[in-house]
Amino acid sequence: MQLENDLAPSSTRHRHSVTEQCLSITNPSPSDPYEDHFHKRRTFVIKDPATGREIDRYPLMDKEDVGRVVATARDKFVSWSQSTFTERKRIFVKASQYLAANAGRFAEQIAAENGKTKMDALLCDVYCAVDLLKHTAKHAEKYLKPVKGLPGTMVVPMRKNSYIFQPKGVVGVISPWNYPFGLSMSPVISAIAAGNTVILKPSSQTTRSGMIVKEIFDNGGLPEGVLQILTGTGSLTGQALIEHADIDMLFFTGSTDVGLEVSAHAAKRLIPVILELGGKDVAIVTKNADLDRAAHGVAWGAFVNTGQTCIGTEIVLVDRAVYDAFMDKLLPIVKGLKLGKGVGELGSMTMESQRKIVLAQLEDAVRKGAKVIYSGPSVPDDKGLWCTPTLLGDVTPDMDVFREETFGPLKGIIAYDTLEEAIGLANSVKYGLSGCVYTKDMKEGNYVAEQLKVGSVNINDCLCTFAMPALPFGGVKKSGLGYYHGEIGLRAFTDIKSITENTLPMKKELQWYPVLDDTVEILEEVIHLLYSGNFFRRIQAYLKLLPKVPKIIKSIW
Ligand code: NAD
Repeated sequence: MQLENDLAPSSTRHRHSVTEQCLSITNPSPSDPYEDHFHKRRTFVIKDPATGREIDRYPLMDKEDVGRVVATARDKFVSWSQSTFTERKRIFVKASQYLAANAGRFAEQIAAENGKTKMDALLCDVYCAVDLLKHTAKHAEKYLKPVKGLPGTMVVPMRKNSYIFQPKGVVGVISPWNYPFGLSMSPVISAIAAGNTVILKPSSQTTRSGMIVKEIFDNGGLPEGVLQILTGTGSLTGQALIEHADIDMLFFTGSTDVGLEVSAHAAKRLIPVILELGGKDVAIVTKNADLDRAAHGVAWGAFVNTGQTCIGTEIVLVDRAVYDAFMDKLLPIVKGLKLGKGVGELGSMTMESQRKIVLAQLEDAVRKGAKVIYSGPSVPDDKGLWCTPTLLGDVTPDMDVFREETFGPLKGIIAYDTLEEAIGLANSVKYGLSGCVYTKDMKEGNYVAEQLKVGSVNINDCLCTFAMPALPFGGVKKSGLGYYHGEIGLRAFTDIKSITENTLPMKKELQWYPVLDDTVEILEEVIHLLYSGNFFRRIQAYLKLLPKVPKIIKSIW
């Protein structure tokens, strides 16, 4: 990684323009190959971040297009919401088989537009998605089956209580570029399985990944219109989606700044929103850690997907007692990392603006006293958005690299003296997505897991909680709102309706009109009888009520 003198300010604000900065948007010309299909339509070009080569071109959809797509989704909702779980299961199983059969091809396409390696695409995008498809096919009916037989109350006895889950309607899904396929598939799978129709707006840089999602469901036999893709930028197409009056729910994965904007639009229209936002994950290596596993786990968690992972390790807190021994194991692993398109362990970064943020954080940290422990190897060429893996020592909480999301291959390491100090440091950041703890002492591991103010914790692991399809996933603090995955996550895509069914053949209730003259007194005594903590008061209530029973029965039967 090189320090550049002409860096843009490191602010992570206004990141919603990040994608657009990297796109070249064109007006149609007579020679535009897309003009036939998209008459008078502006298009945008996608370049492979690892080579700078143009690889795709898509129509830039506007407010009018969004309106048409929403209308179709609303129309299709009527039939899809009535589809059976057996029907949905059949589609999901077929879709998962199609995805498995084409895994390699899709991984290459995802890698091409994102810059990541094929391995990163296969494991974190394709594998997670195919597994969630299978899991959802198998468990959706169970997760969404009516909950029956719930306890009632003595004041209105003999009711059958249940609640049911009903699809919300049209769900808008907006996804990011870092795991463009996996993070599009996850919410789309859940929303469709719950009986909703879905409109997916992938990040413009990774539009192809959105198209792959559609191809997979089309091949699974999903009826036309149940899933539609919007191609375009966040500020035009995404904005039109979140502003549309006929969307019933929004699911957003991306930066906290844009998430807040999405949330504000949802609030105005009082529709639910799930937000999966930024992170600043910390890994704590305690003095009881298996240092080999900790070093390998930290290295992978930190640099997988070139560090552009919301639940990737950004800061490593190491007990001072094992700091040197841990670094002796970590450094050779990091030094051995290979950068390269296709063949490397680390791909290129995806966005130039994101690379600038990383470089600015490096500059800020070094200016404030951090030491570069290691940075290398040299980048393969100057065409791609390469960024060398870099480890920083002597990182302090006033540095941007500690306080702000980095989202790149720059990692800070801090030695701590007590576990409480480490937990305090980890909890001092504004984000709360996930975290890791490495220890052989499971009591200690579970203690740290409970203390961290985050949505999920990996003990002697990293990035695993997201891959577990039965575990709800979501962040706290500035990392988001709500959950997906698992039973709780699937139910989040539904409206819950409570139903109470009276099983007594009475003509009326005691409190229904006309009431008895002493109904108030009767009710008061019933409350004493059922809830008084004084045994004698309960007996007294019983004795007062007993003579009134024939009158009560006559009134209600
Ligand atoms: P981003 O916020 O720039 O964009 C995300 C999506 O929002 C894109 O599809 C974009 O086109 C769209 N968008 C942008 N402006 C919009 C607007 N005004 N209205 C509607 N849509 C708009 O995020 P990104 O740069 O694509 O992704 C990186 C960020 O995502 C990081 O902060 C990362 O931590 C976060 N992320 C979070 C999770 C999680 O699960 N919590 C997962 C992956 C990424």
